[in-house]
Amino acid sequence: MGKVEDQRALKDARRAEQQRTSPTRPRGRAQQAPPASGTDRLCGHPSMSGKTCTRPGGHIETSHRY
Ligand SMILES: [Zn+2]
Repeated sequence: MGKVEDQRALKDARRAEQQRTSPTRPRGRAQQAPPASGTDRLCGHPSMSGKTCTRPGGHIETSHRY
């Protein structure tokens, strides 16, 4: 009785592993998309005072501007 359940658990674990390592993940894009905050392509790096960086996203400046 327990053997069948063990095999099923093993199968589920394998399937989960394949989904995790699969190169085609449908949810991957959603996670990479920037959060919709009303601002268009800003860096958005949070400062310690709660403000966010107003430079363009991916700016070359090493410092952030709040
Ligand atoms: Zn910034």
